[in-house]
Amino acid sequence: ADAVQGCPRTPTLPEGGTGSGGRMAQRKHGRLWCWLGALLGLVLAAPALAQALLYRNQGQLALAPHTRYLHDDTGTMDVADAWREVDQGHFEALPATGAAFGFQHGAFWFHVPLSNQDTRQRQWLLVQEYPLSDRLDLWVRHADGRIEHHAGGDHLPFDARAVRYRYPNFMLELPPGERADLLLRVQSQSSMQVPLTLYTPAAFIELSRDAQFAIGIYYGILVALFFYNLVLWLALRDASYFWYLFHIGAFGLVLLTLNGLGFEYLWPGSPWLADLSVPLSICLAQVGMQQFARVFLRLRTAWPVGDRVTLACIAYFMALGVASVWLPYRIATPLASASVFLSIGWILTVTLVAMRRGDRSARLFLLAWATFLLGTAMFTLLAFGLLPKSFLSGYGVQIGSALEMLLLSVALSYRYASLRNENERIVRRAKLQLESQVLERTGELRNALAQLETAHARLREASRHDPLTGLYNRGWFRERFESLLEAARLQEQPLSLLMVDLDHFKAINDRHGHLVGDDCLRRCARIVEAVLRPHHALVARYGGEEFIAALPGMDVHRARELAEEICKRLRAAPIRTRGPEVSVTASIGVHVVDTADPSPGIASDLALQVVDTALYAAKSGGRDQVHVAGC
Ligand code: GH3
Ligand code: MG
Ligand code: MG
Repeated sequence: ADAVQGCPRTPTLPEGGTGSGGRMAQRKHGRLWCWLGALLGLVLAAPALAQALLYRNQGQLALAPHTRYLHDDTGTMDVADAWREVDQGHFEALPATGAAFGFQHGAFWFHVPLSNQDTRQRQWLLVQEYPLSDRLDLWVRHADGRIEHHAGGDHLPFDARAVRYRYPNFMLELPPGERADLLLRVQSQSSMQVPLTLYTPAAFIELSRDAQFAIGIYYGILVALFFYNLVLWLALRDASYFWYLFHIGAFGLVLLTLNGLGFEYLWPGSPWLADLSVPLSICLAQVGMQQFARVFLRLRTAWPVGDRVTLACIAYFMALGVASVWLPYRIATPLASASVFLSIGWILTVTLVAMRRGDRSARLFLLAWATFLLGTAMFTLLAFGLLPKSFLSGYGVQIGSALEMLLLSVALSYRYASLRNENERIVRRAKLQLESQVLERTGELRNALAQLETAHARLREASRHDPLTGLYNRGWFRERFESLLEAARLQEQPLSLLMVDLDHFKAINDRHGHLVGDDCLRRCARIVEAVLRPHHALVARYGGEEFIAALPGMDVHRARELAEEICKRLRAAPIRTRGPEVSVTASIGVHVVDTADPSPGIASDLALQVVDTALYAAKSGGRDQVHVAGC
């Protein structure tokens, strides 16, 4: 039968591409019908009515509108039974979603009636545009009753394919103008997706070139992101970069597996690995994804409960990954695929929580996973037969994941930048704090130093003064006297010395007591000071009731006058004390130092000795008088 029973015959078309304009018009008319039929079949799920008419310049033909199928639950039906079912019209048109049925038991049979309307094109390539089906058996029944058999699928080595390509394919020899029936049996533990397309070899080369190019771009993006972030990880040693690399690596593997490139390039001789790689790579990618989210969002501190749930997710995927080595493919793969939804749902949840807790870089993270979720959702819905095959659904994972990984890479740098800014802010604040503390401490130190300096100055002053009278003490006088002597010698100026000793002071003490004596000492000191200070004298208490004064630039006459003045003032009025008023007199020795003497140390001692002798002379002269040395 050249047309399928139960289907209206297609309009009879002229065979061959040459002829009158009328023939051309008819042919165009037929093609239009063919396309409309295909479109309606796809969109409205109308039963496939037409046989597939092949023209060379059409290049490719999607067979879904022309395909009818039969589901053999048990997978026991043999080919003779299948031909019988075809001939009896028991095959059904494909559903609206096309030949995508999700995970199914048994075998699926597909029947496509073909009619090669081209005069020259003999070879047609039948491609199943889904790479994971386990076993394909194709029977081609020619018009002369001859039946050819081909086998394919990833349970056969890759080299068994007609064309070395990631999708299973069969080269059909159809003599021009001939009709044939295709009967394809598909048995697979993976999702039952059998989108069949016929290509002329030339069209196939062009199309596959474009597809490989697009895939190349995708892997180019992935590889570039991988190495870019690898360098960043090596430089920054931030764990989130490592887990990003893990995720991107495992995810690249998932896609290599899903689009058949893994079988083509990585394990072409191992159908076992071809099957195992699907659930295993999905689990690995999920482990990487969850761990990446944990580290990126710093869940351990941001949301400890969420962190524990994420760890549980990771444990689940690790267990499933290990189990998939033994579990049947039809259990492991749907389980892993379905878990991907929960996994991404969970990642969205933790991201939202982290965002609400103030993590700003979580926004980009959210956007990244949202694009991925959308793409993966489309692909998974396609895998379960809930969405028709289209560019967006077929490449949803690739588009979504490329965007996701790009955005994640941006999010990583954003996160790194914000962490660095935060660090810098902390360092700057610490530096400011430190600076202000240093300033404060320096101020305190300066204060303390100043206080110390004052105390020191006070002590120094105190060490120079006599506490009772407030005059300089003997030690300081000796020190200063040396320099005065030196200066006088240099300037060739006279330097007068006065030594004042109160008369019979012991008797005053004895009579009135020491406190009254002290008052007298203080009062006398003030009088000596009052007389001598205007003359820039260095006045000191030299001993118990002895005062000494050095008068730079003063000659002997002025010195004597001043000494007389002191005696006069003391004599003039009794001193008021806390007790009775006490009359006090003093004897004064005067000496003008010989500044021509070259030996300074001996000169000062000598001068003091001379003035002391003069004082002694004043005492022995009867007290209350002045005696000038050498007179
Ligand atoms: P002269 O006229 O010979 O100098 O007799 P004088 O009693 O003044 O001399 P003397 O050296 O014998 O005695 C000095 C006395 O000065 C002895 C001591 O009691 C008294 N004196 C010394 N230092 C102080 C003092 O700080 N306070 C009081 N109240 N008396 C002092
Ligand atoms: Mg005395
Ligand atoms: Mg004395």
